[in-house]
Amino acid sequence: MTKGRPAPAAVRRWNGWGLVGTEYPVPPGAARFLAGRITAHVIAGKGDDTESRRSPLDESGAPLPEPDHDQVARAIPPSRLPWHPAVSTDPSLRLSHALGQSLPDWIRLRAGQIPVAPDGVAFPTDDEEVRGLLAYAREAGAAVIPYGGGTSVVGQLEIARDLGRPVLSVDTGKMEALHSLDATGHLATFGAGAKGPDIEAELGGRGFTLGHFPQSFELSSIGGWVATRSAGQESLLYGRIEDLFAGGRVETPAGTLVLPATPASAAGPDLRQLVLGSEGRLGVLTEAVVRIRPAPTVNMYGAAFFPDFDSGLAALREIAQGGGGGGAGGGRGGGIGGGSLCLLRLDSAEETATTLALAGHGRLIRQYERWLAWRGATQGKCLLIFGAAGGRRPVRRTMGEVFDACRAHRAVGAVTLLAREWVKNRFRTPYLRNTLWEMGYAVDTLETAVTWSKVGSLLSHLEVTLSHALADKGEGVHAFAHISHVYRDGANIYVTYIFRRGWSPAESLRRWKTVKEAACRIIVEAGGTISHQHGVGLDHKAYLAAEKGELGLAALRGALGVFDPAGMMNPGKLV
Ligand SMILES: Cc1cc2nc3c(=O)[nH]c(=O)nc-3n(C[C@H](O)[C@H](O)[C@H](O)COP(=O)(O)OP(=O)(O)OC[C@H]3O[C@@H](n4cnc5c(N)ncnc54)[C@H](O)[C@@H]3O)c2cc1C
Repeated sequence: MTKGRPAPAAVRRWNGWGLVGTEYPVPPGAARFLAGRITAHVIAGKGDDTESRRSPLDESGAPLPEPDHDQVARAIPPSRLPWHPAVSTDPSLRLSHALGQSLPDWIRLRAGQIPVAPDGVAFPTDDEEVRGLLAYAREAGAAVIPYGGGTSVVGQLEIARDLGRPVLSVDTGKMEALHSLDATGHLATFGAGAKGPDIEAELGGRGFTLGHFPQSFELSSIGGWVATRSAGQESLLYGRIEDLFAGGRVETPAGTLVLPATPASAAGPDLRQLVLGSEGRLGVLTEAVVRIRPAPTVNMYGAAFFPDFDSGLAALREIAQGGGGGGAGGGRGGGIGGGSLCLLRLDSAEETATTLALAGHGRLIRQYERWLAWRGATQGKCLLIFGAAGGRRPVRRTMGEVFDACRAHRAVGAVTLLAREWVKNRFRTPYLRNTLWEMGYAVDTLETAVTWSKVGSLLSHLEVTLSHALADKGEGVHAFAHISHVYRDGANIYVTYIFRRGWSPAESLRRWKTVKEAACRIIVEAGGTISHQHGVGLDHKAYLAAEKGELGLAALRGALGVFDPAGMMNPGKLV
């Protein structure tokens, strides 16, 4: 960078993931691997529907032309909102707030087909301005959708086509400051729009960390984390957002809800639980008080391979259930290492093979695989990435103890190269979605959590069933899964699935729906939660009753109605 000149502001992709200029290329071997995995599940003779089999690439294999941003923005219909000095009706701004990052959102954005966009976007700077905007929206008969980082993956930002009223998007991006830091009580208060890197930079400069690292860390906001009950990659040590969210302020159509930050309380039901996961239905969270910790002196990551998934699963459960652990800030790492264990991530055999194929370093990996095979980790081997954070000594001890616990279940390895690659790419991996899309593939993820006795069987049921979910179209799906959040009573299951997108957006959407519905049905039948970390939005709404029951849903609707009697907040989402 030239001295004295400010760095150019990062520009966000309007119809893809992340910042313009950041790429994640696919190594040539990985492209062959993916094509092989997908065609392996194609059922010969099925899917004679030639329209659905046509490729979204042209005959030379190049991607078909992308929609033009300006043209798509020009097609946004005129705003129906009355004039307001703080509300912009600029079509380009409205386009950038129309959708999130779910696969249906992607399919629409990449096709330039935006069914509905908000009629206006506002960037309030404080609570008073939010209150003013809510009053204006009520007057105008408009709906309000709070917007944090726009990284929702379950349709929490999408606007129903038949809503029949104008929509105001309230972007919290200008309420992003650190308001106060209580170094004695380890509490920090941020504006709800603060994004991951800014939060860690502010706290890091004062010797603290929040330790909340969702993979969307670069772009998602603290308000969004609370509103979606997010889980960061190192939740084992730091806790999920519900462990970290100590209090805050919510501007609702019925008034201001203040949630005081007390260390613990027996004063009736905890109202924070109503705000956590409220998905914009209750009001706009303007300020969040969060529990912070002294920044770790060191972070260390390691990798090991189990000969099969069951051995890895047994080791994970043993570690998660071992010793003391627990505590307000998360600290779910059991007894190992005096509470410095921050990460346990176990790939299935299918995900391990995919990770190794995508890692590049072909020759090195092949050599390493030969060594692993000699040590007994062959075809069905499963990769574990683990990490610890804290003081140098406890971290070293933890790493040793975890590895010993794994070795007791026949693990080999402890390769630092793979762990280093994982850390380096932990927030870059989502950029693969852009590359794969251009290669003709759609990528989506889904997740759940179940008790330990069901984890192994549900994970393999999901992998196998999703792989064949498009068989009647003659299409294969590459589905693979990992466990990345462990608890005393169970773990999450995180599935990635990749399939060839259809010739038309409608066909891609049909394929997504088929796979997604199959997965949701399996999850509900197994008694899993419909979401461990992404939330409900539109995509999981139909499955919520199975988890909450009709009475539970009625209670939730009733509570939302108290704060939002006219139903103007993010209508149609969640319930
Ligand atoms: C590549 C990628 C990786 C991801 N990885 C993870 C992960 O590791 N862990 C995880 O938990 N999630 C993950 N997600 C999902 C997503 O990032 C989270 O749900 C995140 O918490 C959303 O935050 P946001 O600021 O982007 O919210 P938005 O997408 O802007 O909004 C999400 C919902 O929250 C509401 N909302 C936002 N801000 C407020 C506010 N201030 N007040 C009231 N309501 C509000 C919105 O109305 C909407 O309903 C990932 C998503 C992507 C695209």
